Amino acid sequence: ENEREETDMGRIITIANQKGGVGKTTTAINLAACLAEAGQHVMLVDFDPQGNASSGLGLEEKEFERTVYDMLAEEASVEECIAREVQENLDVLPSDMNLAAAEIEFQEVDNKEKLLKQSLDQIRDNYDFILIDCPPSLNILTINALTAADTVLVPIQCEYYALEGLNQMLKTVDLVKRKLNPSLEMEGVVFTMYDARTNLSLQVVESVKSNLNQTIYKTIIPRNVRLAEAPSHGMPINRYSSRSTGAESYRMLAAEVISRGEV
Ligand code: ADP
Ligand code: MG
Repeated sequence: ENEREETDMGRIITIANQKGGVGKTTTAINLAACLAEAGQHVMLVDFDPQGNASSGLGLEEKEFERTVYDMLAEEASVEECIAREVQENLDVLPSDMNLAAAEIEFQEVDNKEKLLKQSLDQIRDNYDFILIDCPPSLNILTINALTAADTVLVPIQCEYYALEGLNQMLKTVDLVKRKLNPSLEMEGVVFTMYDARTNLSLQVVESVKSNLNQTIYKTIIPRNVRLAEAPSHGMPINRYSSRSTGAESYRMLAAEVISRGEV
């Protein structure tokens, strides 16, 4: 059953923060899985050479022949690189270490900031949502991801230096908006790894709210051990531990993301 109108273009959301370990990949995997569970047709683009989004969904390197790198290098068609129905409603463009060479290899290519956009524009009509998991840096990969996107979702870990990273990120978004992708918008900020037992988590949330004129998701992702365990089992949280607080919070986030698109 597919009720989607053919005219609907998928919303492309880039999940970015140049800081590592803030919950980008965890959010990419679990938001994608929960959107798919809610009946949305979803593509997750693993755009980090580490390939954590691929392996976290149980995709082992030996299982896929083509990656997002082959797509950018035009060594294979977009369609050939997609791992289909990794879960119901969820396709993945996997990644591996080959992608690390992209920065040097594509240096001389025309429109090197737009390679990902050119590929995704060919398939976006097939999806309700395309999520892109970025590496922890502001390199050409992240610039490609921001150039391809409609919106940027920034996960913020509830710890002391959260705001610093965020301001740098917002500057980059602004730059890409001016130079490469005028219609780029902020999707919003999502707090991750919230620890209700510490004052620090609460302080970080309060200070970001009062210092930042940004959309902030109501859903706050708690620190939950199930979320940390799930990737080693190759499963998103809604399959690994369906009733955990981690699963419930990513379901709520998915519902919020869907409802944003409807207003
Ligand atoms: P990034 O992609 O930004 O580098 P990750 O999503 O890989 O960050 O998260 C960094 C580490 O924190 C991982 O080991 C992950 O399992 C863990 N983690 C992420 N979010 C949570 C959470 N809400 N609760 C517990 N552990 C988490
Ligand atoms: Mg990551």
